[in-house]
Amino acid sequence: MRRRSHSRPVTSRQHTFTCQHLLRWSSYSPSPAVGPDPCYISCPHCHVQKLTRVEYSPSVRTHCMAALLCIVGLWCFACLPYCATSCMNANHFCGNCNKFVGVYSSD
Ligand SMILES: [Zn+2]
Repeated sequence: MRRRSHSRPVTSRQHTFTCQHLLRWSSYSPSPAVGPDPCYISCPHCHVQKLTRVEYSPSVRTHCMAALLCIVGLWCFACLPYCATSCMNANHFCGNCNKFVGVYSSD
């Protein structure tokens, strides 16, 4: 298997693509400030101001809390962090176009 070296210059087309991709990603990343609960935002995709739909997903903190509970012998309560939304990441989706608009990280 060949290892890709970062010090070697890549082909110009590939390099341009990578930069554009990174630029697009970095310009997309500063999402609107969202909290752990649904909130009104102006959607960057459809520009409609609407309440967001929130999906909660476990974060590193969630897994750490569960692991900690197991370690101290409270393994029967290890599922609690997965029920508490304050320990989860909140992924916000536009209430109009249903596209991802931002994430609230609990970490
Ligand atoms: Zn939208």
